[in-house]
Amino acid sequence: MSTDWLLDDSLAPSIEDEALGELYRGAARGELVLPFCSACELPLEPEQLVCDGCGATGPVWRPVPPRGRVHTATVVHRLEPGLVRTAEPYPVADVELASGHRLVLTAVTPGGPPSIGDPVSIGFRELGGVAVPAFEVSVAANAKESR
Ligand SMILES: [Zn+2]
Repeated sequence: MSTDWLLDDSLAPSIEDEALGELYRGAARGELVLPFCSACELPLEPEQLVCDGCGATGPVWRPVPPRGRVHTATVVHRLEPGLVRTAEPYPVADVELASGHRLVLTAVTPGGPPSIGDPVSIGFRELGGVAVPAFEVSVAANAKESR
């Protein structure tokens, strides 16, 4: 069923995951859904339960604009037949989203690493029937940035 270019289906996350279920259920709808502090609106890390800003607990998850910029990027050389489907090195990027969140993401499609500062849009890889957020350097993202 899955034709993900990067990982084997057996590595698919669960949409019932306690910490990240909201993220994957949002992704299934084609939305990037991330947590904010319920009291002060500070963007939170996906598995963060207590706000750094005000100490409140209980994040609220909301759709955010699926775009950002590359903060850092690296290339992973990992040959692991059975789990990693590609034999080629692949990029992983730390993306600073327009919402203020930071996510470490793989790419929607195989290719070389992005440059630091590149505008990216967030799309999805499909892994074992679960949509997983991933970055995409695109002309469309460039065009939106200049508006
Ligand atoms: Zn807060």
